[in-house]
Formats: sequence, C-alpha cells, structure tokens
Amino acid sequence: MLDRRVLMNLRGLLTPDPARTWVVDRIPDAALALEEGRVAWLGRAADLPAAWAEAPRVDGGGAWASPGFVDPHTHLLFGGDRSGEFNRRLQGASYQEIASGGGGIRETVRATRLATVEELVASGAPRLWAFRERGVVHLECKTGYGLDLEAESRLAAAYAELKRRGWSLDVTLLPAHDLAPEFGGDAEANTRAVAEVWLPELVRRHPGLARFCDVFVETGVFSVDQGRRIFEAGRRLGLSPRVHADELSWTGGAELAAELGAASADHLMFCSEAGMRAMAAAAVVPVLLPGTTLFLGMRDWAPARKLIEAGCQVALATDFNPGSCPCTDPLTILRLGCLQLRMTFEEAFAAMTLHAARSLGHGDLGHLHPGARAEVLLWDVDEPLELVYWVGEPFRPRFMPNGITERLKPQMTQVAAEEK
Ligand SMILES: [Zn+2]
Repeated sequence: MLDRRVLMNLRGLLTPDPARTWVVDRIPDAALALEEGRVAWLGRAADLPAAWAEAPRVDGGGAWASPGFVDPHTHLLFGGDRSGEFNRRLQGASYQEIASGGGGIRETVRATRLATVEELVASGAPRLWAFRERGVVHLECKTGYGLDLEAESRLAAAYAELKRRGWSLDVTLLPAHDLAPEFGGDAEANTRAVAEVWLPELVRRHPGLARFCDVFVETGVFSVDQGRRIFEAGRRLGLSPRVHADELSWTGGAELAAELGAASADHLMFCSEAGMRAMAAAAVVPVLLPGTTLFLGMRDWAPARKLIEAGCQVALATDFNPGSCPCTDPLTILRLGCLQLRMTFEEAFAAMTLHAARSLGHGDLGHLHPGARAEVLLWDVDEPLELVYWVGEPFRPRFMPNGITERLKPQMTQVAAEEK
C-alpha cells in the first residue's frame, strides 16, 4: 500500500517555484498531497483532484505551510567556544588582532585537536536539534578546525556518526581552513600536504562521506593559485569545490570559483563585478553570510543586489561557527538578508530554501512542488511576512508528521538514556 496523505486546513502555502527563478508561490486555502513522503500535488484545497478524495487527511491547524530551511554553510563541529574573546572584541580588539595573538581560530584548533570523536558527536547533536527546532531540515557541515590529518579525520568520523543517526547532512572537507601552525607560515608546504596527503587519506578513510572540499582563499592564508591546486586534487577524489571567497579583501576567489565551475562561492563581501558576472555565467551559487558581518561588527555587507542583477541565484546561510557567527537561527539570517542585504522577503526566502538546496545539488529540497521531499514546516502566523517583520520574535515552526523528527526521536532518546 502506498503511503498517501493530504495536508489540509492550511491558511496558505508559501514555496519557491523551482521552474521560475525568484518566483515564490503564495497559495491561499491550500492543500498538499503527499505520496511516499514526497509532494505529489499542491494547490487550493477546493481544486484537490478526485483521485485524492479518499486519502487520509492531516490537519494543518490553519497554519501557513512552507518548505524546511536548508543551511548550505556551517562549521558545525569544533571543540570549546570563543565567548572569552567575544568580550575582548567588544573592548575594541579586531578579529585579526586576536588571531595574530594566538587566539581566534588557533584557540578553536587547539580545543578541537583535544576532542575525541565521541565528544565531538556529543557537542554536535544538541546544535543540530537547535537548528531543527528553528526549521532547518538539511545542513552542509565542514571539517576545518583540526588542521592536521588526525584531527580532521576525527571530525569526519563524527559527521559520519551523526549521519548514521539520521541527520540530513552534506559533509565538506576543509583542512585548508587556515595555515596549520606546524608549517610556520609556509603556505606552499601546507598546500602540498593538503592536496597530496590529507585529502586523499581522508577520502580513503571515510569513503563516500564527503561530497565537497573547501579552501579559505584569502590574503595571508591560501592564494588563488594554491586554492586551485587543492580544488583540483579534491576533484580527482570526486569532491566538488565550495570556496571561502573574497571575505576580508578582494583576492579573486569568485573568479576562481567560476573558473572551476564550483558548487558555491561563499562570503563575497569584497567580490568584484567581473567575479559576479563570471559566477552567473558558470552557474556558481553565491552563498551570503550576513550573520558573520553582523557578529564581526563589519560594515561591508555582501553585494546581494548586484549579484542578483548580475543573474546569480543567491543563497543565504548561517555560517554557524564559534568565532564569527555562533547562530543557529535561519530567521535571523532571513531578517538580515532583508534589512542589510536589501533583499525582498521573497528573495531572502528563496535564498534560504531553494537556492541553498541547489548549491548542494538537492533538487528535491527547498520547495514544495511535485517530487519534493515532504519536509513541511507549519507556521502559526496570519501572514508569512510576520516571520521577518516581528524582528525579535522567536517563531518556531511545527513539523508536519512525516519529516525526519519521528525517525530521529526514538534513537536520540535511546542515546540520551545510554549516556545517563
Ligand atoms: Zn565559513
């Protein structure tokens, strides 16, 4: 017997249309027909096809339905936190000043190298629940706080365990997140270690786990040429590129992403107009991270309007990480997209759903058109714009009973019981 259900009693349904760029459908008095956990039909309840007349009903409780959010850029797993340096920054120290004194990412690398796989998993699970409660149904997660083979391998093993428990994740290898302290600033030697030893060995130890690799291409870290060599090594291993590009200064990261046909170029606060045009032509998804700009107190917001005008399908992400954006809330990012990046509500919504999913190669996430996975959020609002307009309101979606929560809950309860 096929599992068929109809989600009824919806005030409305809001979903990007995967066939029409930037179009967000807004269907009042909607219904959603689901077969085997996928959308089969959407429209006004009054127009429900006769073939669905006998299917079991699920009560939407008068809510607005939307697809779950997708977060295409997180650094989910790391040891320790950086709340101490946060106060130093409030007293005037810059991110770069803290980093040059051995703090910043170096502090997180030290703590991550000391963490066991079990400790990394134990710290990741509650973070994933925090994302989940706020409506994120799929995340991209990076390694990158190990900066040596063994610690990067433990991060990969921890992601493998979280996936085994049922979390919907894509893993990106980022051993080139910063120069490893062992190389004493020798970026060339560090590049060779990543490209020739670490990436091949990580893929050998964790076959089938990672889909992407990433490099922090930035002045004083990895150059465009070094990034290119690491990405080419990754591609030989089946990993497609995602690029930390033009974040603190213009380095040509966006141009590199276009040249490589990367899945995404991320940050882009200092992206050139030539880089924007090149990304549009190469269908590279620009992933913008306004939470980081806010948290670092910077004034250079990513040029979302120019990217949209250049023809790019812009995505939004949290950049969840301990140093520059410890935020698990997609609504905060949506609000910053509207208020600081000057995106319309519909643009920001498509960016955090459809375009985010596309940057990860998932055509069945980020929308509720036929074929989509039935990851449906139910929002108790009169009008979806309220999610952005009531700017401090901690809206939490309800989940239509068909998503991954039911599959996860028994396992997580079991894990909690075992840990006691
Ligand atoms: Zn990042």
